[in-house]
Amino acid sequence: MSNLASLSSWARNVAPSPTLAVDAKAKALKAAGKDVVGFGVGEPDFDTPQFIKDACAKALAEGQTKYAPTPGIPALRKAIAEDYTRRGFTGIADANVVVSPGGKMSCYLAILATISPGDEVVIPAPFWVSYPEMVKLAGGVPKFINAEDVTGFKVTPSQLSAAITPKTRMVVLNSPSNPTGAVYSRAELEDLVAICVKANVWIMSDEIYENLVYDNQTTCSPATFSPEAARLTITVSGYAKSYSMTGWRLGTLVASDKALAAAVADLQSQISSNATTFAQFGALAVHQHPDKAKASLAEMCKAFDRRRLNLLAGLNAIPGLTCYRSQGAFYLFPNIKSFGLTSVQFADRLLEEELMAVVPGSAFGSEGYIRMSYATSDETIAKGLERLARFCSKLKKV
Ligand code: GLU
Repeated sequence: MSNLASLSSWARNVAPSPTLAVDAKAKALKAAGKDVVGFGVGEPDFDTPQFIKDACAKALAEGQTKYAPTPGIPALRKAIAEDYTRRGFTGIADANVVVSPGGKMSCYLAILATISPGDEVVIPAPFWVSYPEMVKLAGGVPKFINAEDVTGFKVTPSQLSAAITPKTRMVVLNSPSNPTGAVYSRAELEDLVAICVKANVWIMSDEIYENLVYDNQTTCSPATFSPEAARLTITVSGYAKSYSMTGWRLGTLVASDKALAAAVADLQSQISSNATTFAQFGALAVHQHPDKAKASLAEMCKAFDRRRLNLLAGLNAIPGLTCYRSQGAFYLFPNIKSFGLTSVQFADRLLEEELMAVVPGSAFGSEGYIRMSYATSDETIAKGLERLARFCSKLKKV
């Protein structure tokens, strides 16, 4: 007899977020008194800048504790629209902006608003863990194209062209990338975007790491490339990574297609009503005090860059490991192929034997790598490198 009270096929098939799972495991070990070094979850170790917290606290004290308009408080949507306009987006007004409970939610809403059952979504791998699961939750079919460290973790135009079929509805772009830290140049992105425009498919450009680049790298947005690219691009971002606001859950979504932005808001009205009202006043402070925002960002970027270079040098000094010099986000994605272990075996043993948390590459669709977040202290990086070197020296190279 069938059990009508069983879980849905969505619930049975969805994989839990491996990044959050690694974080939970590391935190549980820490809580049990173990000296764990965490390179797992991508979460800045800084506190949220004081001026942002003050603005939120003021809003809370003033009673901003009720429902907000579904797509966001008017002042924040206006500020976001103006900000994108300054950055070269055209035709962006308040109606094109939705503030959501997190960049993750912005991605999911973008997918829900565009993907019907059976539609294909092209996702370059290594990819952020949640894209394929979100596509599947919408009934869509993720299609992967792979990039390796030897090509800087970037897919080529010919790979993208070959992956697009009549069923393709969306291509996901994510530069700077989670998990590799790779940053596409403008020319590289233009080539990929031209293929999407020719195929007339949506582009979800996840730009959550847009402010975190090093080695004088710059970032750019597909929506600014041409009117056709603007029409097809859904730009997703948020405050978590740039302003150390992970727990605030505040994401943004900008689409020049007003009908799409309205559909996203309608979905949000049924799913979460609105992003937390008083939290939005904290985000508003980022726009109202650009000098303070810039200064705190510069300070964090300086620390991230120092940590990146230390971690990179340390990794490349460990026999058997090689690591591509990524120029964005706060991740490195070292190659562990010479040890002949799967990335899950490698990560599990590293946690067990050295109390060091990393995320296996397979979680991001790429076997033979591990992801290390350097959004952690210099001391942790030094300790982690010592432990990793000891661990690797015990492994047999193949
Ligand atoms: N995006 C971060 C990461 O990849 C946070 C965890 C998550 O939402 O996946 O570690």
